[in-house]
Amino acid sequence: MAHEAAAAPAAPAKLVIQNIGLLLSGDIAAPVLDADTIVSIGGRIHFVGRRADVDLDDAHCIVDAHGCALAPGLIDSHVHPVAGDWTPRQNQLGWIDSCLHGGVTTMISAGEVHMPGRPRDIVGLKAFAITAQRIFNGFRPSGVKVHAGAPVIEQGMVEEDFKELAAAGVRLLGEVGLGSVKDGRTAREMVAWARKYGIQSTIHTGGPSIPGSGLIDKDVILAADADIIGHINGGHTALPDAQITCLCESCGRGLELVHNGNERAALHTLRVASGLGQLERIILGTDAPAGSGVQPLGILRMIALLAGVGGVAPEIAFCFATGNTARMRALDCGLIEPGRSADFVLMDKAQQSAGKDLLSSVALGDLPGVGMTVIDGVVRSGRSRNTPPATAIPEIIRG
Ligand SMILES: [Zn+2]
Repeated sequence: MAHEAAAAPAAPAKLVIQNIGLLLSGDIAAPVLDADTIVSIGGRIHFVGRRADVDLDDAHCIVDAHGCALAPGLIDSHVHPVAGDWTPRQNQLGWIDSCLHGGVTTMISAGEVHMPGRPRDIVGLKAFAITAQRIFNGFRPSGVKVHAGAPVIEQGMVEEDFKELAAAGVRLLGEVGLGSVKDGRTAREMVAWARKYGIQSTIHTGGPSIPGSGLIDKDVILAADADIIGHINGGHTALPDAQITCLCESCGRGLELVHNGNERAALHTLRVASGLGQLERIILGTDAPAGSGVQPLGILRMIALLAGVGGVAPEIAFCFATGNTARMRALDCGLIEPGRSADFVLMDKAQQSAGKDLLSSVALGDLPGVGMTVIDGVVRSGRSRNTPPATAIPEIIRG
């Protein structure tokens, strides 16, 4: 495991990635860009275009992509981190580093609920949320950006609590429904307070995940009006199809599909959202670590499921895990455009895939091979130790 200390290594003044065979933008309106070269300066995308238009003389680091595809680093919209790269849920070390090898460069906490003995009293849960925000802000496991500090709301919280959390830097709520607030009316009041102070909310959907969790159905979800309908495909127990359809049709909120959910319900959600012409609402997560474990390739597996079985174009499926999430969650990554964070995953079709190239291999349900990840303009990993081996892999030719 390569744990990195708080201060990420300084981004190279200028990083050039050339010979990109396919540039996936993350933007569902234009998922493929006509370009073969990206330049990042100081960790931000500076230029997207043709190699002939780039001055290589002053480049600190040059990567030859050797024809690989480049996409924005994948975003896992739903994780449950606890401390650094340790999870007590499955008593595992290095799980975030493993996910980096699955192309994930950003994670969003849906609550640090696996902390043994986590406080449920109001002063305790506020202190714990602020601590979680601080510790993951101060330490990026293997460079992965973990947005944490997501308190689970409990009965008795008042508006002042949300104001105080926001002032202390908390920007997320943990899954509504995992605490003592399980009724729509109370949830709605607290979600609105959170929103008023700039805190984004996610609600648990479906049956209980583990003993102690509970059922949250469509009536509670519509009443609560959280920003993201968390794991609308269940975590793992899904709502009936008719309720999922109703949720898609009755509000414009985010539709989160997770790996630790019901695959059939995920495909149902995809069909309904597609029928509504609202694929920009779909975002992807793993819900790891969970009862079904840590899923280092979970986001790639969701992309392969939705493309290979769900029939959505693979270049669109990548947007579910990049630009859609970035826009919905106001992140500065997830899209290939100047000014955004230079967070990338470079991939090629897996060796011996029946597909002729990356996209056709994903359309056949195969996983891509990850060849490199870049975060804030810094190369963070080379050939993945977890994906099937990529046919071609990028190479650092300077720096
Ligand atoms: Zn949940």
